[in-house]
Amino acid sequence: MIYKRSSALFAEAEKVIPGGVNSPVRAFKAVGGTPVFVKEAKGAYLYDEDGNQLIDYIASWGPMILGHAHKPVVDAVIDKAKKGTSFGMPTEIETKIAELAVSMVPNIDKIRFVNSGTEACMSAVRLARGYTNKDKIIKFAGCYHGHSDSFLIQAGSGAVTFGSPNSPGVTQGTAKDTLLAKYNDLANVEALIEANKNEIACIIIEPVAGNMGCIPPKAGFLEGLRQLCDANNILLVFDEVMTGFRLAKGGAQELLGIKADIVCFGKVIGGGLPVGAFAAKAEIMDHLAPLGPVYQAGTLSGNPLAMAAGLAMLEELNTGDVFSSLAKKTEYLHKGIAEVLERLKVTHTINRLGSMMSVHFSEGQVVDFETSAKGNNETFKTFFHGMLNQGVYLAPSAFESWFLNDALSYEDLDKTIAACEAVFS
Ligand SMILES: *Cc1c(COP(=O)(O)O)cnc(C)c1O
Repeated sequence: MIYKRSSALFAEAEKVIPGGVNSPVRAFKAVGGTPVFVKEAKGAYLYDEDGNQLIDYIASWGPMILGHAHKPVVDAVIDKAKKGTSFGMPTEIETKIAELAVSMVPNIDKIRFVNSGTEACMSAVRLARGYTNKDKIIKFAGCYHGHSDSFLIQAGSGAVTFGSPNSPGVTQGTAKDTLLAKYNDLANVEALIEANKNEIACIIIEPVAGNMGCIPPKAGFLEGLRQLCDANNILLVFDEVMTGFRLAKGGAQELLGIKADIVCFGKVIGGGLPVGAFAAKAEIMDHLAPLGPVYQAGTLSGNPLAMAAGLAMLEELNTGDVFSSLAKKTEYLHKGIAEVLERLKVTHTINRLGSMMSVHFSEGQVVDFETSAKGNNETFKTFFHGMLNQGVYLAPSAFESWFLNDALSYEDLDKTIAACEAVFS
């Protein structure tokens, strides 16, 4: 394939944008080469600036769960845009999407909309601190909760891909309040709580980790966290920015049957526009301004275009059975790729839950950050570029989950499996 125009556009971009990208995960630093510039997308396909068609397994890092340019979402946005794009005053559509979200997700009464997953997690932690009157938080190595200071401690996703899981610019003062635990290791969490008695406001976790590859929780792990939280007056914050409205209508809480105290959303909830949200029982949410003392605000929060896209998306997801359709497609792809890699004797481990999966080029189970980091990056690079050359677009990092979208056909999945076979033959 030819990437002439993409390369030229990237060279131009690098002159005026740091690294040529507005979010580091888009750069090809971990895999080599230059990023593909996308021109448009429809359904399961991306069309780049050189005219290549690519089967998309990123789905804008999650939001495009029904495929690109999904008509009900696009129509809703166009319709709203004609009536004004921002007012800084309340609008009816904010209540509509809030009501729908609250009806779809278990254990929440009220929801506040923000503009990104980062904002949602940052605000959720402030709320947890304000509610409990405690300062410290526990996060897990390899989990990513956006780029707010408190979370850039052994963070996953782009932070680890680019070698700065602990970012310069985060003060010691902030870092000391973030305690780091090992994913899927309950004893480790218990010890941290014991050593910091009555100081921990919340445990924040991706209930199914998706920023160190896809790592499902071990049986009993989340249940154990729930018990530890209850016993120690700690709030359990589920960062469902990735899993919310992707694993089930009610996200991981519903799929895994675990109750969180505060839930964070992003990605799918905005239907491809910049939206985040956090939600909880009224008793907790009412601590937020203007009702309570915990401050949080946003000029463009609840923006009409963003709410129109999000509402159209949630309405689509609330009818029909997208989630089991997606889970079946993901299982099919998993089995197809596993069969090829086994036959060609490529060392690998594949993790999967619902419509999230990841292919790790390492032996043994991948259950936490340490085991995820064992993957062979040279093999991943070969895999990534080989797939790209055959028209399959994967995340340009071994630490990212694949996100399937429901516009993918079984023919697309077969093509993907065949591409994998061609790469390793
Ligand atoms: C993407 C992501 C975030 C950050 O969301 P942004 O919209 O990029 O700020 C937070 N948490 C998780 C689990 C994510 O996957």
